[in-house]
Amino acid sequence: ADQIGKMFVEKFRVESPNVRYGEEEIEAVYHYETTDLVHESRDGAYQWIVRPKRVRYDFKTQTRVPKLGVMLVGWGGNNGSTLTAGVIANREGISWVTKDKVQQADYFGSLTQASTIRVGSYNGEEIYAPFKSLLPMVNPDDIVFGGWDISNMNMADAMGRAKVLDIDLQKQLRPYMESMVPLPGIFEPDFVAANQGARANNVIKGTKSEQVQQIIKDIREFKEQTQVDKVVVLWTANTERYSNVIVGLNDTMENLMASLEKNETEISPSTLYGIACVLENVPYINGSPQNTFVPGLIEMAIQRNSLIGGDDFKSGQTKMKSVLVEFLVGAGIKPTSIVSYNHLGNNDGMNLSAPQTFRSKEISKSNVVDDMVSSNGILYEPGEHPDHVIVIKVGFNAQIPLIIYWTTLQNPSVALLQYVPYVGDSKRAMDEYTSEIFMGGRSTIVLHNTCEDSLLAAPIILDLVLLAELSTRIQLKEEGEGKFHSFHPVSAILSYLTKAPLVPPSTPVVNALAKQRAMLENILRACVGLAPENNMNLEYK
Ligand code: NAD
Repeated sequence: ADQIGKMFVEKFRVESPNVRYGEEEIEAVYHYETTDLVHESRDGAYQWIVRPKRVRYDFKTQTRVPKLGVMLVGWGGNNGSTLTAGVIANREGISWVTKDKVQQADYFGSLTQASTIRVGSYNGEEIYAPFKSLLPMVNPDDIVFGGWDISNMNMADAMGRAKVLDIDLQKQLRPYMESMVPLPGIFEPDFVAANQGARANNVIKGTKSEQVQQIIKDIREFKEQTQVDKVVVLWTANTERYSNVIVGLNDTMENLMASLEKNETEISPSTLYGIACVLENVPYINGSPQNTFVPGLIEMAIQRNSLIGGDDFKSGQTKMKSVLVEFLVGAGIKPTSIVSYNHLGNNDGMNLSAPQTFRSKEISKSNVVDDMVSSNGILYEPGEHPDHVIVIKVGFNAQIPLIIYWTTLQNPSVALLQYVPYVGDSKRAMDEYTSEIFMGGRSTIVLHNTCEDSLLAAPIILDLVLLAELSTRIQLKEEGEGKFHSFHPVSAILSYLTKAPLVPPSTPVVNALAKQRAMLENILRACVGLAPENNMNLEYK
């Protein structure tokens, strides 16, 4: 334990001619080492030339941490109630008795709150500090929660309905949560499974345009009532079906706004909340897999410079996949088939048991290994994917005795899902990875993962809102640019936390988990003038 204590520091400060800690801002000059690639003909032969280059960037980070309000769409769901309860338990320092021990509230599973970064070496030891010590961030204990739900259940009862947290903890939290009641939400039965209708007793009436106006009013009133400085809105409501992207309907900002006025049915509730947020310049994050961010909404967010991020929390199976395939392909091993199976029994599982919502999940899970596969031209021919996978899905849900479901995808990854009420929030995920190894050998890895789904998702939601808030306080300027500007409003730096990262047009999508984490950490390091973590340890060589 002594050894561990010595290697950990709570805080640090950078001293360098490149960094200035001011009253209001941290200013940093950072030299980005990158390369220019040129494809040239020399002496009759084409070849690639790589030219290292160094580009100066200036960063400015506002240091005043705002009082933050977080409004969740689907507040009364398993994730929303678990996150709210978890933050109150941390804030109040609550402990509770389990059959094993007295458990203290914590933020395990949160990158910002429970992971560390390497600061450097001291007397032959590696020194680490909390991730959150890199830049001033909102303390999650200080977040004020609010939001919408189509079910009017108060948050204490919603926590009970979710059946996620220990009962002794729930009893202590009830007094804090009984008076929290979600605002009415926008509901459109056509976008979710029919089985969700029974829940919908708290809905906003009126045309789509009136519904958007109501959401704007709700955000303003929440800000007023809670006296928060900033609001972030995050969708953790049911997975919707994909909306059709149609020329003239939602393909451009102008068409989307015209369709809103015409009350077009194909604008989904999640897109309506998005329109309200972009109009209000409030960051909006989508934690579910559907295409909330139709081209018209993306265009609008870019034009109004309003942060959007998504899609779909990367909590369990996909996180493993984006680690395991990165390892395999990085080790020169060739994954040839990846098959994933889930069963779960929470309301999310019930909603996903309808084919149209399940399809959204299938799409968001489908591209997660593409960047890793295409990075290795030794293992894969151009355009080659791991084998087509043909899967038979056999249902054992009492209402649907047998479903046989064939999918032939030109994709390495096939995901299956079953709704099994008995397991509740405790999701099972099973994956089989088959790879080709040396000299035609085969290697098969099988994983079985059992975990409360919402306990994985809640800390990810926290990181998403904290990092989204932080990124709105950072300004940057590339060498040659006259003025500072914010990061691109389509927030790629949140990629680590999402299954199908939404990135700006013509930006590569990175799914590999270690690369995503390195991007985030290194950008925050650059904001305090620190070099990227390169793991070279040259001082010992
Ligand atoms: P849940 O069903 O328990 O909660 C969703 C809540 O949203 C419900 O209370 C429902 O009444 C409400 N709701 C539905 N439509 C609404 C609308 N239009 N407006 C306002 N409220 C609405 O589900 P959950 O387990 O909390 O998961 C939430 C979402 O997060 C799902 O879409 C799920 O796919 C996604 N997700 C979860 C995880 C995870 O690990 N838990 C991972 C990735 C994605």
